[in-house]
Amino acid sequence: MNVPLLDLKAQYRTLQPQIEAAVAEVFAAQAFILGPKVQAFEQACAAYCGAAHAIGISSGTDALLMALMAEGLGPGDEVITSPYTFFATAGCIARLGATPVFADIEPRSFNIAPQKIAEKITRKTKAIMPVHLYGRAAEMDALNKLAREHQLAVVEDACQAIGTEFRGRRVGALGDYGCFSFFPTKNLGGAGDGGLITTHDPARAARLVALRNHGMEPKYFHKLIGGNFRLDALQAAVLHVKLPHLDGWMAGRRRNAARYAQLFAAAGLTDRVTLPATPCAEAGAADAETCHCHVFNQYIIRVPQRDALRAFLTERGIGTEVYYPLPLHLQECFRYLGHQPGDFPESERAAAETLALPIYPELTDAQAEAVVAAIRDFLRR
Ligand SMILES: *Cc1c(COP(=O)(O)O)cnc(C)c1O
Repeated sequence: MNVPLLDLKAQYRTLQPQIEAAVAEVFAAQAFILGPKVQAFEQACAAYCGAAHAIGISSGTDALLMALMAEGLGPGDEVITSPYTFFATAGCIARLGATPVFADIEPRSFNIAPQKIAEKITRKTKAIMPVHLYGRAAEMDALNKLAREHQLAVVEDACQAIGTEFRGRRVGALGDYGCFSFFPTKNLGGAGDGGLITTHDPARAARLVALRNHGMEPKYFHKLIGGNFRLDALQAAVLHVKLPHLDGWMAGRRRNAARYAQLFAAAGLTDRVTLPATPCAEAGAADAETCHCHVFNQYIIRVPQRDALRAFLTERGIGTEVYYPLPLHLQECFRYLGHQPGDFPESERAAAETLALPIYPELTDAQAEAVVAAIRDFLRR
């Protein structure tokens, strides 16, 4: 049985007429830049995330970059973030001439460890960028407390985590900025690139609105140096059709996570494969299916023989991925930061041991069973 890592066509089949109608409306109006489609989607996102303002942006990467631009960050400033994330998180810090300062992760959550951040704060530190990796919320209470004590901005990289809750509130509305991506593989995926920033602060929102359009306010007068960071009306139209379905898709992902947990337990593999844990389950409160603290953009297992397992699963027709094989402190482009292997042992161990399994909402029981059966076959060889 073939099991792809992700099957976007399965989702498209369920919404094709609505999406095509929304796209046709944009073409009929020939209004492609900002306008009512973008505004309506922004309002829906602000309401969904529980934030006062939402600003549509060209991509998740640009959302992160713009949040740091809106804080006025540049050379001499330090921003603390995780070395175990997608490149964009730290890349945006460096692109502004600021210095990415890494703090290691907690091995269970894969998210930045608050106590490790505390060790890295200096007089140059201006912001903390937690990543809600794989769709699991970072420890926002501890992070916000640190930020308040040291007067730091908190920029949430929520690119993998739209809809994730932390103590009953959705991510993106917990720090000073929430940055989202609508890259097609994210839980809310567009027809190309797209992103969004949420904030509670009207002054920050006004800065972001100006910055995404060359810092222009009014037309052809520039108080700030911004850029073209606009979300396309076509993307907004497609995403607005999809947004009301997001909670249902997340429920499908949680159901699949709960199914995997049952299947791995039934196969007697839970001592050889480390399954992702939800904060609720760790607190003894609930199982994966009812916990809203993890939206499973990725379902990540840990196995010591990761690369051999991945090759075996590929041969069986089962799609997997490694997010991410090399932590950021060891990337060639960051050699100037002077890091060595061993500097962030938990991130390095995660990079060597983690594997993403298919978790998309339309995954069938038979497919989940095939995945676990193949992993059992590999481990029993
Ligand atoms: C996807 C992603 C981004 C970048 O988003 P794009 O829309 O692809 O630019 C940034 N950070 C994380 C953690 C991501 O997963």
